[in-house]
Amino acid sequence: MRVTMIGTGYVGLVSGACFADFGHVVTCVDKDPSKIERLERGEIPIFEPGLDDLVAKNVKAGRLSFTLDGAEAIRDAEVVFIAVGTPTRRGDGHADLSYVYAAAEEIASLIDGFTVVVTKSTVPVGTGDEVEAIMRRVRPDGEFAVVSNPEFLREGAAIEDFKRPDRVVIGTEDPRARAVMGELYRPLSLSDFPVVYTARRTSELIKYAGNAFLAMKITFINEMADLCEKVGADVQQVAKGIGLDGRIGSKFLHAGPGYGGSCFPKDTIALVRTAQQYGAPVRLIETTVEVNDARKKVMAKRVEAVIGDLAGKTIGILGLTFKPNTDDMRDSPSLDIIPALQAMGAKVKAFDPEGMREAAHLFTDLELVDGPYEVAQGADALVLLTEWDQFRALDLAQIKNRMNQPVLIDLRNIYKPAEARAAGFLYSSIGRA
Ligand code: NAD
Repeated sequence: MRVTMIGTGYVGLVSGACFADFGHVVTCVDKDPSKIERLERGEIPIFEPGLDDLVAKNVKAGRLSFTLDGAEAIRDAEVVFIAVGTPTRRGDGHADLSYVYAAAEEIASLIDGFTVVVTKSTVPVGTGDEVEAIMRRVRPDGEFAVVSNPEFLREGAAIEDFKRPDRVVIGTEDPRARAVMGELYRPLSLSDFPVVYTARRTSELIKYAGNAFLAMKITFINEMADLCEKVGADVQQVAKGIGLDGRIGSKFLHAGPGYGGSCFPKDTIALVRTAQQYGAPVRLIETTVEVNDARKKVMAKRVEAVIGDLAGKTIGILGLTFKPNTDDMRDSPSLDIIPALQAMGAKVKAFDPEGMREAAHLFTDLELVDGPYEVAQGADALVLLTEWDQFRALDLAQIKNRMNQPVLIDLRNIYKPAEARAAGFLYSSIGRA
């Protein structure tokens, strides 16, 4: 099938490359010239494990191409995906749908023959109706169907998630569109991955309900961690103890500095706003948003609680991205914690395996150094913010020797307290007495 992807970011590029790998002929369109130039040169503009090989293989096979001008690709396509950003709208917390609507107008003006237009971007309930109305206005004669097909991939494991998904959700009431989508995802249904067909509005809500539930689960264990610290319990054992219950499940029960990233923060607040707008407030999610925002802000105070006044102290940060195996810095907890440390008078230096380029644009007065041992050099405390594998087995003796004082504040609980203390560290972690 001929597929066109509008938006070649984390979702558009991974989905486009995976559809090409299924055997479809895919054109990825983006309006960012630097992104398209890099892709045409064979460079991958984001860090996502395995994506470089997948893209190279499918470009070579002639199934995957990139362009700034999507006109021809949209005209030829049987399926056009909208995979543009839906960030938080300034001022009110709703999802900013301007990129989605602009893409819909452009697609409508170009389609030729029956075309399935699929919203892969995360969009509030009713967006599909509005996309359809926009397209109908632009092309009263156009033959098209608008489908919702939310994406559930996780950055860092995106290819695996796309090719071996827990489920694919397809929201449409149009039988022709359903048949086209069935054909598109046939390689997955043949391998028995569940494909859930629903009405379009239901599909749109499934995405938000999923992300809100996971954000709530993380926030739950974070609050349990705070309680563990007060009562002398261990949050990791609590998580294990409850996670083995099949009704609860062990995933997303890792206590930490608060969730961040390109999806949970914006999707939870957008769901809250949608629910308020329809008069059915989701109070659990309102509280989740509030508790998580507050948590990220108080993390810097933990450092002060361990080493005292931060004025003139040097704090080393290990990890800047919101999770490992991505270069994505959107809404990363580091964006709250580092400025808070600086506001308390600390000098901050940091290292991240993939986030340095983005961090250089986002932070002021942050010294970026070449590796974890350079971060430790002369530091009064080391704060572990992102659980990259390369931070899991640091030479603690070498770290200690380089530090001004041996303090390790492990906000991801990747070290064992006894081990860190045996290495001579004053060690503080989350939810462990
Ligand atoms: P992104 O910012 O990485 O990519 C969006 C791309 O769209 C950008 O490159 C931008 O230049 C391009 N674009 C915008 N308008 C365009 C237009 N009219 N024509 C061509 N290109 C255009 O965003 P992302 O992280 O890929 O997210 C895209 C959507 O997918 C969002 O709604 C997001 O919530 C959702 N989503 C993201 C993830 C994730 O892990 N990143 C996972 C699931 C769902």
